[in-house]
Amino acid sequence: MDYSKLYINGQWVASSADQTFAVINPATEAVCANVVMGTKEDVDRAVIAAQAAFKTWSNTSAQYRAQMIQKLADKLREYRDELAQSMSISMGMPLHLAGEVQVDDQIDILETYVSRTALMDEVKTIGNAQIIKQPIGVCALISPWNYPLNQLVGKMAPALASGCTMIVKPSEQTSLQDFIVAKACDEIGLPAGVFNLVPGYGPEVGAAMSSHPDIQLISFTGSTRAGIHIAQNAAQNVKRVVQELGGKSPLLIHEGCDIAAAVEYGIEDVMINTGQTCTAYSRWLVQKNIAKEVIALAKQQAQAIVIGSGDDAFMGPMVSQVQQQRVLGYIETGIKEGATLITGGTEKPAGLEKGFYVQPTIFAHVNNNMTIAREEIFGPVICIIEYDTLEEGIAIANDTVYGLAAAVYAKDKPQGLEIAKQIDAGMVYVNGGGYNIEAPFGGMKQSGNGREFGDEGLHEYVEVKAIHMD
Ligand code: NAD
Repeated sequence: MDYSKLYINGQWVASSADQTFAVINPATEAVCANVVMGTKEDVDRAVIAAQAAFKTWSNTSAQYRAQMIQKLADKLREYRDELAQSMSISMGMPLHLAGEVQVDDQIDILETYVSRTALMDEVKTIGNAQIIKQPIGVCALISPWNYPLNQLVGKMAPALASGCTMIVKPSEQTSLQDFIVAKACDEIGLPAGVFNLVPGYGPEVGAAMSSHPDIQLISFTGSTRAGIHIAQNAAQNVKRVVQELGGKSPLLIHEGCDIAAAVEYGIEDVMINTGQTCTAYSRWLVQKNIAKEVIALAKQQAQAIVIGSGDDAFMGPMVSQVQQQRVLGYIETGIKEGATLITGGTEKPAGLEKGFYVQPTIFAHVNNNMTIAREEIFGPVICIIEYDTLEEGIAIANDTVYGLAAAVYAKDKPQGLEIAKQIDAGMVYVNGGGYNIEAPFGGMKQSGNGREFGDEGLHEYVEVKAIHMD
């Protein structure tokens, strides 16, 4: 695949400048691709193309857009292995997991929007008023590096379904899969200008998008820091901003629950993708009476995790050296602040001399005021905090600026549901409840202000118009 050109108005074109970004494979530390980095001028060109395409794409039938989304899903399935490979080499997830975790689910999510195109034709009648829906316009879609195809699909599927056109900016480190998606859009005959790809640096291309007067919506997934910056820029021309930001999600393990199941669920959830999951339950709130058992089981399971890049590995490297050093810094801070290191630490995992690896790390006797309990570490680090009463546990769960996700292990469903209702998070999983791709995904408080997936994900891209009849 050639990563030297941008995809604008249905053509692979050169950037206005000659900048490239060397993508480093975090498992080998070697450069695996050189990717074009666009400019503000390239964003301007892409916006002109997207504006022109909006005139016709926004007026296409729901059936036509449904066909296009289905064709795209079918085409991406053909490219499954290439997609998995592109993400494995750029962000480090072992290849055997990348197909299942980073590709298959994402194509299924795309497909859930085939039938949702029809929602755009729904008309609500209230007395003499007809309430209709229209696509919002040209959208800028900005993604991070941790689940790059998931984040692209979560944005482009509702944009396509609603009749919006888009300019896509992946993370500098993980843009390879977006080139494959652009190739797929081209091959299925998606009209020129509907999907435009302008990779680039956040402060340059991302900022050009957030301040562009002819972009109506920014959908952003990434850090709260960048999200605030984008919202400030976007406010100047009253853009809609959909934000999926950071998290410090709790896993509340209460006495009377299935402790072994809770620990297995929690370890897998945090350690998959090497802790680089926005919803990762990195704060475990454990009832005092069962804490000893939870800590012992967690230690055992964390130590059994296979680290590396081979077919038996569950945990790959961190995405970059910067991220690795950041996480190691947090581990040092945890030790300095007096938390008890149960397993892991700052040493390299045995036998892995190359690669940005970090050991699965667990701290016990953490209190919720420590830095490691308050800040998003975004690495394979779990903080165990003990509580006495359920009220206290819920209060600690909510004592964070974030509100993305939470999980609860309770003695039964009714108790789990009762706890779930009291936790300030956009998504709560009870007793191992599975992830549902039709349900809205997003957070409260500083974790964001929008929703992706499901009907709610589509609504973000919709303008509602009231037509008052004679
Ligand atoms: P990041 O904020 O550094 O970068 C995300 C994207 O924003 C990248 O494409 C980057 O180039 C761009 N960007 C950076 N500065 C920008 C600016 N000033 N203007 C416009 N664009 C800018 O985040 P990251 O390090 O790539 O990703 C990790 C973060 O993403 C974590 O905080 C994680 O919790 C969050 N995240 C949230 C969700 C969610 O759904 N809530 C999902 C995944 C990741």
